[in-house]
Amino acid sequence: MTLAQTALHSMPDMPDIAAAARGLYVGGTWLPSSSGRTIPVVDPSTEAVLAAVPDATAEDVAKAVEAAASAAPAWQATPPRKRSEILRRCFDLMIERADMLATLISLENGKALKDARGEVAYAAEFFRWNAEEAVRISGEYALAPAGTNRIIVDYQPIGICLLITPWNFPAAMATRKIAPALAAGCTVILKPASETPLTAFALASLYEEAGVPAGVVNVLTTTDPGAMTSAILADPRVRKLSFTGSTGVGRALLAEAAKHVISCSMELGGNAPFIVFDDADLEAALDGLMVAKMRNAGEACTAANRIYVQNGLYEAFADGLTRRMQALRIGAGASEQTECGPMITRKAVDKIDRLVLDAKTRGATVLCGGDVPEGKGFFYPPTVLADVSPEAEMASEEIFGPVAPLYRFADEEELVRLANATEYGLAAYVYTRDIARGLRVASRIEAGMIGLNRGLVSDPAAPFGGVKQSGLGREGGQRHGILEFMEAKYVATSF
Ligand code: NAP
Repeated sequence: MTLAQTALHSMPDMPDIAAAARGLYVGGTWLPSSSGRTIPVVDPSTEAVLAAVPDATAEDVAKAVEAAASAAPAWQATPPRKRSEILRRCFDLMIERADMLATLISLENGKALKDARGEVAYAAEFFRWNAEEAVRISGEYALAPAGTNRIIVDYQPIGICLLITPWNFPAAMATRKIAPALAAGCTVILKPASETPLTAFALASLYEEAGVPAGVVNVLTTTDPGAMTSAILADPRVRKLSFTGSTGVGRALLAEAAKHVISCSMELGGNAPFIVFDDADLEAALDGLMVAKMRNAGEACTAANRIYVQNGLYEAFADGLTRRMQALRIGAGASEQTECGPMITRKAVDKIDRLVLDAKTRGATVLCGGDVPEGKGFFYPPTVLADVSPEAEMASEEIFGPVAPLYRFADEEELVRLANATEYGLAAYVYTRDIARGLRVASRIEAGMIGLNRGLVSDPAAPFGGVKQSGLGREGGQRHGILEFMEAKYVATSF
């Protein structure tokens, strides 16, 4: 046990970090890497090493595919009601262990405890929702238009699924895939982000306790995700790749999957506009922005990345926002007081710093924040930038940090043009008291999800996903999420 681990064990609701780092989870057993190599997991609040997890080899990867394949027939044959009850038990256990899981997330990801608790609740909800979906997978039956025969459509599990997830929601991005895949009757191999594997491993233990059979969920960590992915997708038993992460990696994975014509679901990057019309309720818009911008300290794909405020409300909005951002308490993730935790890595801080310097060079005014603090931990302060140029790099690149850039607009036409001037199309937010205008703008904005007078869109009961280069497919929602893990089989028959 490392020094950091020893200190942590004296805190309440402490996760068992050593248990979470005990091995790769393959076929219901915990395996050390067959190479003996490990990957350090760093606490971004302190830069201390929390643990080391195994670096899987090609041999380990082959074992995981074999385990998922061996478990597949029995899991597919398990009655939906039984699958549903196991998923429901996963939900119950996550809620029972919510504080421990939230602490673990805060430690390895750095997010504030209140954000981590919100993530656990959201992540658990995918099990409850999909427990309910599992018993409602209905097919179709119709008379062919020609009247010659009947059309029967059955939905079957797609096969073994490779699930790849990012570090910014270590629990929710995994359960948003695992729960529908299991509800559909698929077995899976999860590859969590190298920065935050402990939550994925802790959850794997919990699934086992809930009754998920050995081999149905397998978890692998690696320093060479490209090679691992190529090896897994080359196995003809693997039929699905579900990825959440950056658009750049998503593009490379689509090319890899194309070699084997694998079904892909892609939840990729975002560049969300947050739009405030003159007639908006100012306090409600500020409240909404604080959620849309500062949940996870800005490290969210749905984070408000470009804040467009109509000329008449601009000054009041900038003042109100600056006051709120300045009041946020910065600190270590796993602390009750913290409202804005550290970024995930030093590299992430450097990127934010580069984007802010670029915006300043192009004429932006810093209303608060804007400088990297000295000392340990990957911190960046809550920052507000006024009059940012549409040419600034942060207008087209994800900031992924606590920086709120303000842009002015005059009218709806200009606003729609500016908001759509991006390759991304994940989330957007619109604040106005004129509901007709709100719905009209929502329909004109090129995004998969719109918050209308609301700064939060994520809900397991709603289809989550993007258009343009923000992705392919949807997660959650009625049938949307589960059908990503199923194939339609059509039988033509006459009698
Ligand atoms: P990332 O660099 O694309 O990594 C995501 C995952 O892909 C990690 O597990 C990573 O593994 C793995 N990976 C990296 N290179 C790979 C390769 N060549 N082959 C196979 N896997 C590979 O993204 P990130 O920095 O972790 O996450 C931030 C991004 O995710 C942002 O763009 C954000 O908008 C997006 N995101 C989207 C959604 C959504 O629902 N649309 C949700 C959350 C985040 P390693 O960690 O081992 O490198």
